[in-house]
Amino acid sequence: MTESDPSPDPAATLADGDAPALPADPDERDAVREALVAWYEADHRDFPWRRTDDPYEILVSEVMSQQTQLDRVVPAWEAFLERWPSTADLAAADRGDVVAFWSSHSLGYNNRAKYLHEAATQIETDLDGEFPTEPEGLRDLMGVGPYTANAVASFAFNAGDAVVDTNVKRVLHRAFAVPDDDAFERIASLVMPDGESRVWNNAIMELGGVACGTTPRCDEAGCPWRTWCHAYETGDFTAPDVPTQPSFEGSRRQFRGRVIRLLGEQDELELDTLGHRVRVDYAPEGEYGREWLRGLLSDLSDDGLVRVEERPDRTVARLR
Ligand code: SF4
Repeated sequence: MTESDPSPDPAATLADGDAPALPADPDERDAVREALVAWYEADHRDFPWRRTDDPYEILVSEVMSQQTQLDRVVPAWEAFLERWPSTADLAAADRGDVVAFWSSHSLGYNNRAKYLHEAATQIETDLDGEFPTEPEGLRDLMGVGPYTANAVASFAFNAGDAVVDTNVKRVLHRAFAVPDDDAFERIASLVMPDGESRVWNNAIMELGGVACGTTPRCDEAGCPWRTWCHAYETGDFTAPDVPTQPSFEGSRRQFRGRVIRLLGEQDELELDTLGHRVRVDYAPEGEYGREWLRGLLSDLSDDGLVRVEERPDRTVARLR
């Protein structure tokens, strides 16, 4: 890249409507970033490839994860690396043995095993055993597409761009109202802190994996973005891969959690005051109004969590 050909500033290419719910204030954006990284660093699933920065080990994990659930990838990944611990070992292996390993561990298309073997051969014969460190160079390896190249550059070398996969799109759509189009790349790059692709991409993918799944678990998972999240505020949890509202129970659970949290912060709250804080579209006489809120409180009361008190002048709710 030359001075006359600078990297485009993602912020400069943003259009109105790219992310209407993303905070505009730079300090607030920093708070968004810091909250996610702190949440990830406090606790996350401990996959073994998250404990290494060896590009070969990470590449194997990425290729295996493309079609297989992560819990099932762990033993296959460990066995694969025990048998072929380096690109040199893999390149020297018989391709048929690698394919047989792939099939016997039910890792999906056998072509991926062939590509992995070929990529190891490229590293050994063309690149003196050294992995490229940037996404562009990694994409020259056999079977390595943009997503995998970016993941390896991030997790091995902390030199990747923002990863955008289905999980990340779901998170960005819900949190910042990013529409279902090519704005995802721009917003993902804009939100990622400079030079922190390793922790950031791990963190946002973890958020999409354990908190912001197709049925979101905002409160149970302690999502760090509840303060800013558009979906959390509105109760609309649809997303590009979740075109209809997740099950009623799913979103109802969010509201139950929110009532408990709000009542935990106050001794008691009057019905409409609570309603307006629970959902932005609360209207006392509307579809999501007093009747809806009373139903929610009644469930919570049946569960022994909340008490509703009818007083002469008002109705209040409080924790039991
Ligand atoms: S608050 Fe809920 S919907 Fe919003 S980003 Fe977090 S988990 Fe997803």
